[in-house]
Amino acid sequence: MAIRLTPTELTDQERALQAEVRAFCDEFLPRGSFEPGLGMSSGPSKELSRELGKRGWLGMALPTRYGGSDRSTVDRLVVVEELLRRGAPLEQHWTADRQSGIVINRFGTEEQKQRFLPDIAAGELCFCIGMSEPDSGSDLASVKTRATPTDGGWLLNGTKIWTSNAHFADWMICLCRTADADTPHQGLSQLLVDMHADGISINPIPLLDGTADFSEVVFNDVFVADDLLLGEPGNGWQQVTSELSFERAGPERWITPIIIVENFLREYADHLSEAALDFLGHTIARWWGLRQISLAAARMIDEGKAPALQAAMGKDMGTEFEQEVIAELQQLVDIEPSLTSDSQFSRLLARAVLVAPSWAIRGGTNEILKGIIAKGLR
Ligand SMILES: Cc1cc2nc3c(=O)[nH]c(=O)nc-3n(C[C@H](O)[C@H](O)[C@H](O)COP(=O)(O)OP(=O)(O)OC[C@H]3O[C@@H](n4cnc5c(N)ncnc54)[C@H](O)[C@@H]3O)c2cc1C
Repeated sequence: MAIRLTPTELTDQERALQAEVRAFCDEFLPRGSFEPGLGMSSGPSKELSRELGKRGWLGMALPTRYGGSDRSTVDRLVVVEELLRRGAPLEQHWTADRQSGIVINRFGTEEQKQRFLPDIAAGELCFCIGMSEPDSGSDLASVKTRATPTDGGWLLNGTKIWTSNAHFADWMICLCRTADADTPHQGLSQLLVDMHADGISINPIPLLDGTADFSEVVFNDVFVADDLLLGEPGNGWQQVTSELSFERAGPERWITPIIIVENFLREYADHLSEAALDFLGHTIARWWGLRQISLAAARMIDEGKAPALQAAMGKDMGTEFEQEVIAELQQLVDIEPSLTSDSQFSRLLARAVLVAPSWAIRGGTNEILKGIIAKGLR
């Protein structure tokens, strides 16, 4: 089997949307008015999330009857590409918009759709991803967090780790064991867990740059009502793997350093060396190729296909590109990047140097993605 990608361009309608989002960014997020973030790790802003919700730019692929816009995956890509390029603070709605809403729409009950989807599309709800555990990351099926049946619902016990945005999330979609089974992939389910419920402790984990975007989340006899079971009991593995496919194909996997390259150009435009020109040429060419992979994968989703291999390839190549751009920029400039510098380029580069290793781990490590690609090509 081969990995096929059909070259594609934005239509006139999609370009018009792109122009609209650019104008919005200039109005609401003018350069210099805020400290830009690095890709999807950009901090939360309820105000921005609500503005995007009002414009129909969240939950874009969700049905209109649940507050969505019935638009395409490519439309969402156009919107998020512009926002990520600006370094906009997107974390309040990021996970809900990218995957939780889609998963609820696909597997949830009518009651769950009515309860959660309109608020997701309005930018009111923050979701986090409860997959990884201290002894279960790549080997996700080995999760030990367990929900045992009780009167009217489940009692949840266990520990999740590396949970991005847990400290301000409203809800988690939690993968847990609800039954003993012959193989680890059976007996798993997904629960919608209220992050403010009794029995939940959230312990932030600091990153090298001093931020603490992710946490350990401990469940101690947390009650989850029956109507918060998402999908079929025991179908958790099928649901979680479908959720992961939404995590991997997007521009967030290759766009992170672009804002740093733009700032480099702003500060060094007057004295670009030959090496800098070479760097810019090959970086932009690679960036454009990776963008084509995301765009082609998004078109495939809109045609009802499931581009899991293309998404894995895009993320593997994209995060390698991101790390290489940071390393090459460090070689090019004769400065010690600093988080407290007056130069925005220096601040962004300093943060990137500290957190870049995590780009090839979050959402599945590059070794795991290469394994998926190799198996798919057999
Ligand atoms: C910034 C960041 C944010 C994150 N956010 C979340 C989140 O919101 N929710 C969540 O659930 N998780 C989150 N994670 C966790 C992330 O998904 C896991 O760290 C990742 O899946 C790897 O799991 P692990 O850390 O247990 O490493 P391990 O699985 O223990 O892997 C250790 C090393 O062994 C390699 N390895 C393991 N198995 C194989 C194999 N079969 N073949 C080849 N090599 C292998 C890996 O590639 C890696 O290099 C986040 C991680 C980071 C860094």
